[in-house]
Amino acid sequence: MKAHEGMYIDGDWRPSVGTETIEVVNPADEQVIGVVPAATAEDVDTAVRAARAAFPGWSATPPAERAARITALRDALAARREEIAETVTAELGAPLGFARAVHADLPIAVAGTYAELAATHAFEEKIGNSTVLHEPVGVVGAITPWNYPLHQIVAKVAPALAAGCTIVLKPAEDTPLTAQLFAEAVHEAAVPAGVFNLVTGLGPVAGQALAEHEDVDLVSFTGSTAVGKQIGATAGAAVKRVALELGGKSANVILPSADLTRAVKTGVANVFANSGQTCSAWTRMLVDAARYDEAVELAAAAAAKYVPGDPQDDTTRLGPVVNAKQRDRVRGYIERGTAEGARVVAGGPEAPEGRETGYYVRPTVFADVTPGMTIAQEEIFGPVVTILKYEDEDDALRIANGTVYGLAGAVWAGDQDEAVAFARRLDTGQVDINGGAFNPLAPFGGYKQSGVGRELGPHGLAEYLQTKSLQL
Ligand code: NAP
Ligand code: MG
Repeated sequence: MKAHEGMYIDGDWRPSVGTETIEVVNPADEQVIGVVPAATAEDVDTAVRAARAAFPGWSATPPAERAARITALRDALAARREEIAETVTAELGAPLGFARAVHADLPIAVAGTYAELAATHAFEEKIGNSTVLHEPVGVVGAITPWNYPLHQIVAKVAPALAAGCTIVLKPAEDTPLTAQLFAEAVHEAAVPAGVFNLVTGLGPVAGQALAEHEDVDLVSFTGSTAVGKQIGATAGAAVKRVALELGGKSANVILPSADLTRAVKTGVANVFANSGQTCSAWTRMLVDAARYDEAVELAAAAAAKYVPGDPQDDTTRLGPVVNAKQRDRVRGYIERGTAEGARVVAGGPEAPEGRETGYYVRPTVFADVTPGMTIAQEEIFGPVVTILKYEDEDDALRIANGTVYGLAGAVWAGDQDEAVAFARRLDTGQVDINGGAFNPLAPFGGYKQSGVGRELGPHGLAEYLQTKSLQL
């Protein structure tokens, strides 16, 4: 893999003032595939200054011209589709087919939606005797995780560009090569120097320096709840805007009238995609007592089709998890599930056969899970499905809403209206009804401790705008 020795700041690749570096590791074979600089607080400051200097020009650029640059960015990403997929496969371990269809194609689509929104959004509105201007918030500090490395970058940078903001991005230390590819695409799209800046580095050093920087107007963070709480506190103390996209423990509610086979198979696939490293994954499957045993059997049979394998191989459906720490964390949760009385019906904590090298985990299904168990409450972030039994609809609702999280979910019923009526009572930001397709324009974000703010579509654009009212 090609790695830049510098960081993309003020329109050029520049060396760090420090000497620390980060080794990028392929989780499938544990080999180092690249080395990138680890930014110091001084590097972050240089990047923020570049973003501040570029702000007056970019914010005054007509929306149609900003839209043209985002269109060019979309095209540059589309031209690199295969390179993006190969890079995500190499540094995250996502199977190549999934990397193409989701890790590359989704952000290309999202960039396209913001090219269109930049061109069509009404940046001025009339309310009574007022003209309300929608103005960019200013300099954005974006901190992203490794699980959907390009999507999470584009979901912040594209709306920020559309709004007229300038940006400093600190991507996850595990996936900096994808971020470097993105910076190359920004450069090719002729986005003016300083509008987008990339600092690769460690969370507690570069990430913290960015979140604390007094010249950053908005911090947009996606990642763990623990770090999110810290960033929220820092931003609150400085009275600056903050958006937090944190964890989830979403419920897949299968009502008694639902097509059980379809609901279970889709539910298992939803969790095992990306090796379970999806914040919106439906990790709790809720089934009525009468069909519980049948659902457990169906889920175990579905899991058997996910044989852990080399992500470069086109036929692989389940790759490794991102790093050794995540592997150990996921295995720890599997052990804890058994210790607390849940029953493993597929998988388990041991390394999969023949996969002792690489950060592999067995796709695991737990039955006899009760709502209070750790594996039913905490985000595992691995290929682990828990199946819970409910007595009636009110019981199902109480279980579904019974965690600190509320990011996503699913409801299945024989009749769409029945599923929708149940979904209205869920405390969560998104619900897929009977397998409804992902919509890149629908607002995405959390209720409760799953976060603050929304990404994607017009709601995602609004996060980067502030209003000024002129009374005439
Ligand atoms: P994380 O530490 O929260 O990482 C997210 C981003 O924040 C990374 O860029 C990280 O840098 C940075 N960061 C870390 N500490 C920071 C600090 N003190 N100040 C500012 N930025 C900081 O998450 P993780 O360690 O990668 O994963 C841990 C768990 O978080 C997972 O098991 C999962 O449960 C959850 N998670 C959730 C999501 C989601 O989409 N909601 C995504 C990823 C992880 P580094 O890369 O250097 O750590
Ligand atoms: Mg971390």
